Amino acid sequence: MEYSERLKKLPVQFFSTLVNKVNKAISEGRDIINLGQGNPDQPTPSHIVKALQEAAEDPQTHKYSLFRGIPELKEAAAAFYKLQYHVDLDPDKEVAILFGTKTGLVELPLCLLNEGELMLLPDPGYPDYLSSVALANVRYETFPLVEENHFLPNYHDFTVSQKEQAKLMYLNYPNNPTGASASKEFFEETVAFAKENDIAIVHDFAYGAIGFDGQKPVSFLEVEGAKDVGIEMYTLSKTYNMAGWRVGFAVGNAEIIEAINLIQDHLYCSLFPAVQRAAVAALAGDQTCVEELVQRYERRRNTFVSACREIGWDVKASSGSFFVWLPIPQGFTSEEFADYLLDKADVAVAAGNGFGRHGEGYIRVGLLLDEDRLLEAVNRIEKLKLFK
Ligand code: PLP
Repeated sequence: MEYSERLKKLPVQFFSTLVNKVNKAISEGRDIINLGQGNPDQPTPSHIVKALQEAAEDPQTHKYSLFRGIPELKEAAAAFYKLQYHVDLDPDKEVAILFGTKTGLVELPLCLLNEGELMLLPDPGYPDYLSSVALANVRYETFPLVEENHFLPNYHDFTVSQKEQAKLMYLNYPNNPTGASASKEFFEETVAFAKENDIAIVHDFAYGAIGFDGQKPVSFLEVEGAKDVGIEMYTLSKTYNMAGWRVGFAVGNAEIIEAINLIQDHLYCSLFPAVQRAAVAALAGDQTCVEELVQRYERRRNTFVSACREIGWDVKASSGSFFVWLPIPQGFTSEEFADYLLDKADVAVAAGNGFGRHGEGYIRVGLLLDEDRLLEAVNRIEKLKLFK
């Protein structure tokens, strides 16, 4: 079968190689500590599961959903933003239900860009952004996120042609993979940059619930004028351990929201209505489960980072997300170091270059195992005597 040029352009999933290596090692009977992936390890809170069970019993949910999702979910998303971020949203015009935010992120260039037009992506960044580039057959350029600038883009460094040509830009804080966070001032700068250069902004707020040291992550929409230039994507995958359920939403600029709704009218009949009702239970229900989850990740971060520092590994503590971004010792590339840890310590991590050129020199660790296992991983690494 001859595939279309579009399909042939889809990037190879960098991390599928890691998954294969880890699975092979496990099948050989090795006790692999897998810190390489980003799949939440805790179950969905029981009140949300119960809401799904009850909704699934109701024959009304067995029918096609309204194309653009049930109004209750859009209202719950708007109420959630009001409560959490003091942001006012029109549930009908400023909220779009998504089949997970990955879907929204991949759809958006199809909605806003013509073939060959330019979008700007973070480097390092979430690899799936590149799927959108291939499917929409657009061009992309990256902007570096470097430690000296707290893993934020420096708007003074964008070239004239980038500013003139780019129509769309993706940002993501708390950041995957670096664990960095953005301030309100940074988002104010972003809005000014977007207005000046007529670039639509998409803020991927996947780790929006997960901020440490008493710092609640800032929503892009909290900033004056943000709705004029862009949207934010929010997923329930991480906040409520619902990664397998596939539910999220986009909020903000009404024209962009309409574009998403329009393309989705042609791709889906929205989500299983019972999942939508369970999402309402998550957003409108007691948020204690979220507080407990964040405390759990913070304890894990503290345990892991302290243990690394004790063995002489100079590691910065992430300020949000459930990742730690660690510099690698000299003499290795990121990929070599990740392979070395897997071969010699039975510890799997994600090589930083899988997230882009500026990820070279780092590895990413997911805090998605108990503290005992995290400590065991550091103990095994200590035995390799890589750090003074
Ligand atoms: N954005 C980032 C930065 C992510 O890390 C992820 C998932 O790992 C997603 C988006 C996609 O989340 P979902 O499709 O589950 O909503």
